[in-house]
Amino acid sequence: MPSATMPRGTMIVAIDGPSGAGKGTVARALARELGYRYVDTGAMYRAIALQALRDGIDLANESAVEHVAQEAVINFEGGRTVVNGHDVTEAMRTPEGDVAAASVARLPAVRRVLVARQRAFGKGGRLVMEGRDIGTVVFPDAGAKIYLDASPDERARRRAADRAHTGSGRTDLADVASALEARDASDRTREVSPLTLAADAELIDTTGVPIGDVVKRALSLVRSRLGDSA
Ligand code: C5P
Repeated sequence: MPSATMPRGTMIVAIDGPSGAGKGTVARALARELGYRYVDTGAMYRAIALQALRDGIDLANESAVEHVAQEAVINFEGGRTVVNGHDVTEAMRTPEGDVAAASVARLPAVRRVLVARQRAFGKGGRLVMEGRDIGTVVFPDAGAKIYLDASPDERARRRAADRAHTGSGRTDLADVASALEARDASDRTREVSPLTLAADAELIDTTGVPIGDVVKRALSLVRSRLGDSA
């Protein structure tokens, strides 16, 4: 854990962990409570993957997907994700979007481009960023690093209940669990920036823990890093 307290203006909160661990909910709540900006880096991988598919690009073609990542104009305003003028908010959360995002996330050149774009968001601090490699690669000096985890069963249950992911379609728990397991395996074993717990991250197991309690614990960690007594 970093021991010194952080100057307020430079604080970056890194939230990592596997799918269904609660990262999105916790990161958004923290950003709201702290008055910080919030960036969902998974949405960046998803948006690039969808744009590449729209362009008819083979997702294994690293230089072509890299070019998409370099050129894409991604806009996150109003809770929507718009890439090159196309709103992909719903499309990117489908099972196909999950697989496509994890596939482009394995490409080193694509990660280099997106990591650089993510670091640019860090200027000025006051940022909560969630993903898989935020505390390990994007911001190794982040003032607070939180790694959220939960049992595979609980993560699958949450994902199956998440309308943004299942829509009105597939909600079979066994299907959701096996898709989640496959994506986790891809994220944890890829050569570049695999999902891993940073040595100085605070691990919070959210299994069976009400989300409000997780947010409180995360908030008190950030406040202690800021030198607040609350
Ligand atoms: O967080 P989310 O599930 O939306 O991320 C979609 C995919 O994007 C992940 O399965 C992972 O492969 C990739 N990703 C990543 N690094 C990040 C964020 C997401 O590799 N920082």
